Amino acid sequence: AHLDRIEAVEPAVAAFLHVSGETALEQAAEVDRRRAAGDDLHPLAGVPVAVKDVVVTEGVPTTAGSRILEGWVPPYDATLVERLKAAGLPILGKTNMDEFAMGSSTEHSAYGPTHNPWDLDRIPGGSGGGSAAAVAAFEAPLAIGTDTGGSIRQPGAVTGTVGVKPTYGGVSRYGLIAMASSLDQAGPVTRTVLDAALLHELIGGHDPRDSTSIPEALPPLVDAARQGALGDLRGVRVGVVTELGGDGYQDGVRARFEESLDLLRSAGAEIVEVSCPHFQYALGAYYLIMPSEASSNLAKFDGMRFGLRVEPEDGPVTAERVMAATRGQGFGDEVKRRVILGTYALSAGYYDAYYGSAQKVRTLIQRDFAAAFERADVLVSPTAPTTAFRLGEKLDDPLAMYLNDVATIPANLAGVPGMSVPNGLSDDGLPVGFQILAPAKADDRMYRVGAALE
Ligand code: GLN
Repeated sequence: AHLDRIEAVEPAVAAFLHVSGETALEQAAEVDRRRAAGDDLHPLAGVPVAVKDVVVTEGVPTTAGSRILEGWVPPYDATLVERLKAAGLPILGKTNMDEFAMGSSTEHSAYGPTHNPWDLDRIPGGSGGGSAAAVAAFEAPLAIGTDTGGSIRQPGAVTGTVGVKPTYGGVSRYGLIAMASSLDQAGPVTRTVLDAALLHELIGGHDPRDSTSIPEALPPLVDAARQGALGDLRGVRVGVVTELGGDGYQDGVRARFEESLDLLRSAGAEIVEVSCPHFQYALGAYYLIMPSEASSNLAKFDGMRFGLRVEPEDGPVTAERVMAATRGQGFGDEVKRRVILGTYALSAGYYDAYYGSAQKVRTLIQRDFAAAFERADVLVSPTAPTTAFRLGEKLDDPLAMYLNDVATIPANLAGVPGMSVPNGLSDDGLPVGFQILAPAKADDRMYRVGAALE
């Protein structure tokens, strides 16, 4: 059914870069065989899933939305893909994304944009617009995204889906093509909070192949979602972050947010106001730390090891000139912009002024979170300042694009988990997201509150 749906709507939505129809059907048939043989199956066995193209899949092309990886077929599976396969979830294919996950609209994909199923002239968010659009358009019931500064949550908000960025270290990064290693996390994109909890528990938990993986069991997420669904939040302190949600947020976004606060109040939650004074510097710190790490991570795309190799048109074929020609043609403008920015911020003369200062700001943001979580069990805000903007609207204005991430970035800088749940429609008829943040390793708290809002 999902493959039929993909065939019907892909010409308009363009959520996928690659569809693995036959393999998915084989994987589904295998689940049927195991079920008939009386095997004990995972609750999601047989439920298909779409995977963002920044996650490597053995034998299936993986491009990270970039020309530089065109034609590359990974020889191994990411840990999270191994876990999906072992539990019997057929993999429908690989979803579109901004090149190397740099962007908030999926327009920076080298393979063309994805369209928002709610209005095909609008962006599906980014960088994981493909995963969110696939779930919103009923092409896939579940998807995997990655979130470095909001790329699971903001697409969730603008497509009316649930998106979760787990605690840093909660889901293995083994087999994720790294953008910014200290910020990247993979997580679920779904239509309900309970689905997200089931998927999160399946892909999460310790992995010895990721040195930053937390060597502890996850908190019980499915139980928390089931408890939240009962609608009783007595004793839960919900902190509204003063710095997220004021000026610059669309009226309809603010109105829906206030209505959800009323719902939480009527479920018995106590609403408190908390201030996180350094959040105003989060965007600036992020756009130094992230490009710095990306400039280093992307050095491996040199025309020798993976995918594209371009030889210089004339003159000698030296390693340096092959690298320059390959990277010149293989990377898009946004990737080049960030590699240049990151290289500059890390260079000897500027390291202390830029990278060093950004790291200090990161510590201040972590302290803001620590103080806020003494007064509240979860923190909440709108996920994004506006509903989906029009394709092309911000493409030539990187700063306007970056500003979309104001509310999502602090969580990545501090490593805390964040969730976006659908929050009704704004005055323009487009979906709005409600963001819930919890302390590190307390992801269960946001599942409880998120499920209570459904
Ligand atoms: N929009 C942000 C950026 O461009 C976040 C990207 C992400 O989370 N992968 O960096």
